[in-house]
Amino acid sequence: MPRTIERQFPAWITRPITLRDSWSKARALVEELSLHTVCQEALCPNLGPCWSSGNVSFMILGSRCTRRCGFCAVETARPDPVDDSEPFRLSQAVKRLQLRHAVITSPARDDLADEGAGHFARCVAEILKRSPRTRVEVLTPDFHARRELIEQVIRSGPAVYNHNLETVKRLTPRVRPQGRYERSLQVLRLAGELGRGAVKMKSGLMVGLGEEPEEVRQALTDLREAGCEVVTIGQYLRPTPRHLPVHGFVTPDRFDRYRDWARELGFFHVQSGPYVRSSYHAYEALQPGDLNADRS
Ligand code: SF4
Repeated sequence: MPRTIERQFPAWITRPITLRDSWSKARALVEELSLHTVCQEALCPNLGPCWSSGNVSFMILGSRCTRRCGFCAVETARPDPVDDSEPFRLSQAVKRLQLRHAVITSPARDDLADEGAGHFARCVAEILKRSPRTRVEVLTPDFHARRELIEQVIRSGPAVYNHNLETVKRLTPRVRPQGRYERSLQVLRLAGELGRGAVKMKSGLMVGLGEEPEEVRQALTDLREAGCEVVTIGQYLRPTPRHLPVHGFVTPDRFDRYRDWARELGFFHVQSGPYVRSSYHAYEALQPGDLNADRS
């Protein structure tokens, strides 16, 4: 008998959503400029509140991925060719939404010689050309930890370099079959070295996939040793029955403990809570204050 845990969401996983006018404005703009968003492609539970506050995280390089992570709703299929007009259209969207903090991510593009790094760099450059006061956060695939590709992205001028570790070492082969735990740490080490302190290093973990608390502490320690300064920790939610089952719903108290562990390890900014995702309230990371303003 399959585990029925998903059918019994705990109280802290359900919440009312109020959509404001700016939600439809954001949606209309994304459609007008034919852009993809990770909010839509990954079926993010925060789309309503984020778009209502004008925060949209863009997905460049198409909506098809060359990998198949067990938690991810992004379609695995032969990707579309790179669209050279996308950097310009993206920069228009950022300007018209007046984003202070623009997050851009992409599916893995193992099919491209530069794995998409050049297109990332062009997108960052176009955004900064039209919106010089906007901070850009790149959430990249692992680029097989190729130094020259990470350098190309870093040189384009992002304020935050994000690459998600996603889960603890023991679960990585099942959760990210084409990913590698050590390789992802190496990506953050290289980006930190190449960024020379001018770029914040960030990563994210999902919990509720069967990890033990001590494994989460070890993953946080590994991220900190790799030079990571900002971390997000959120509850895994199964996007479809084809994806990995939720092993357990982590309680708000345990999210607080993870937050405290991350603080003790010296992370500059921590977001830890059931609804936290890697680009959720991303702008807060560069405005230190309450280290965990969000536990909704
Ligand atoms: S590489 Fe990224 S986009 Fe592709 S399946 Fe994994 S998480 Fe999803």
